[in-house]
Amino acid sequence: MPVAEETDLEAIFDQALRAVVKKEPLPPIEVRFYPYAGLSSTIRLRRGRIYVRLSDILCESPPEILHALACILVAKLYRLKPSKEHERAYKQYTLLPEIVEASESTRRTRGYKITTSPRGKVYDLEELFSDLNHRYFAGRLERPDLSWSQKRTRRILGHHDHIHGAIVVSRTLDDTRIPRFVVEYVLYHEMLHVAHPPRVVSGRTIYHSRQFRSDERRFERFDEVLKWMERLASPVRRKSKKSRRR
Ligand SMILES: [Zn+2]
Repeated sequence: MPVAEETDLEAIFDQALRAVVKKEPLPPIEVRFYPYAGLSSTIRLRRGRIYVRLSDILCESPPEILHALACILVAKLYRLKPSKEHERAYKQYTLLPEIVEASESTRRTRGYKITTSPRGKVYDLEELFSDLNHRYFAGRLERPDLSWSQKRTRRILGHHDHIHGAIVVSRTLDDTRIPRFVVEYVLYHEMLHVAHPPRVVSGRTIYHSRQFRSDERRFERFDEVLKWMERLASPVRRKSKKSRRR
């Protein structure tokens, strides 16, 4: 279990923001651990909010190291010079054998995942996302990381990782035989997960609330798409399709 909970992290970043940037009002800040390959961290300002992602290798780091890193990142965002002390503290920490080892190991095992592009052979998830965002969300949905799965998966066509803010769509759908609106629908469903974060109600996590389900039906070709979903989920393709199988 991570020692630093994400709420503590936000407090650390909030403090760093106050210490480094001395003008009000300070933007709200959201901080998440992310399974980067290697020891990366990113910070960006978007629509008045700061979004930070820290390598999950750092999830058990002592608070003073997280504080140093927070100050370095905030300084970077505001184009200020980070303090030498913070730089030294963080650098030293990253040279500890267990951190170096953890970093190398994530590079080996995750490296390929992170470079996955939203652009498939047939469909570009980023393009589909912007289009859907305009059509159904008034352009207001924050774009998560979009990627195609490594493998073709017929059972699970899409997945939204709430913790890491990522949507993964099955490579099975990146195919000229799959109509665009089917891919759109799978992505739309995952986008609804972004719009309706999971809620815990009497100990149970609700992922598909009533509001979620009713929004789902707003999809333009909902009935048609459901037939496609059934076909895609059935393990045996119809015989007439056999000749087209690879
Ligand atoms: Zn779902």
